[in-house]
Amino acid sequence: MSSATEPRTTLAYLQRAADFLAARGVANARLDAEVLLASVLAIDRVGVYLRFDQPLAPREIDAYRELVRRRAGGEPVAYLTGRREFWSIALAVTPDVLIPRPETELLVERVLALVAVADVSDADGGARPPLRILDLGTGSGALAIALARALPQAIVTAVDVSPAAVTVAAANAREAGVADRVTVVVGSWTSALDPAARFDVIVSNPPYVPTAELATLAAEVRAEPALALDGGADGLVAYRAFVPGAVAQLTPGGRLLVEVGAGQAEAVAAILVAAGLENVAWHADLAGVARVVVATAAAPALAEVAV
Ligand code: GLN
Repeated sequence: MSSATEPRTTLAYLQRAADFLAARGVANARLDAEVLLASVLAIDRVGVYLRFDQPLAPREIDAYRELVRRRAGGEPVAYLTGRREFWSIALAVTPDVLIPRPETELLVERVLALVAVADVSDADGGARPPLRILDLGTGSGALAIALARALPQAIVTAVDVSPAAVTVAAANAREAGVADRVTVVVGSWTSALDPAARFDVIVSNPPYVPTAELATLAAEVRAEPALALDGGADGLVAYRAFVPGAVAQLTPGGRLLVEVGAGQAEAVAAILVAAGLENVAWHADLAGVARVVVATAAAPALAEVAV
């Protein structure tokens, strides 16, 4: 091994890693190489640029080689760094949870839009009443925590059937400073909740990938928990399982917002209507895919409220 040809600078290691990842078919090789190096050095990506001409310590070289090797083997960057940002919040992620996707931020946006409208219609200058939110299948806690951060009046219950996911979500809620307003519960959909509990908003990003499609997904997606992805034969098994129970816990006029896979909006809308919800609408993500389906629980008839 000649020291004259051995790469010495941070930039040289970075370039070599990017070339290696590209040769192994990694789509965003340079970006991934930068993010992994930043993780090894415990700095941000800009920090990596600022030290391009500096050497790496042997320990850093070893750690970087190991991460690059695992990335080339199909492990997602977020599992290698243990972090992913969602709604500008740094979340811890482990292979026990789905890696939060940018398109899921649309669901947060739609909740905020609904709450803004409600605020205008009953603006009285007084303190906002608490907004009770339920997140079914919270995983990393992404939706629950983003909503708690964005809505100071929100009291959030987050449920996941995976105890390991609940541990991740609870830690993320603490780190995000919202643990006092986010309660994380282990359970299958609504089964662990007090049946008398009522929520103004229920959100879910359930597993919706048809089982037969799982094998066709990219290696890094297949590294994610099947529990978070596998939507059964037609991809809609989870919606059929949780929607009736969710509807039973909505306040009159409350909203259910769910993420759906490409091409599923109409079928999911039909499930929501069959469960008694009204005013079904869907919203497209930045790629033009109908991604969030929203519906409203029937308000009580006038006679019922005019006591
Ligand atoms: N959006 C994810 C994917 O395309 C699926 C997430 C889910 O099933 N909720 O892989």
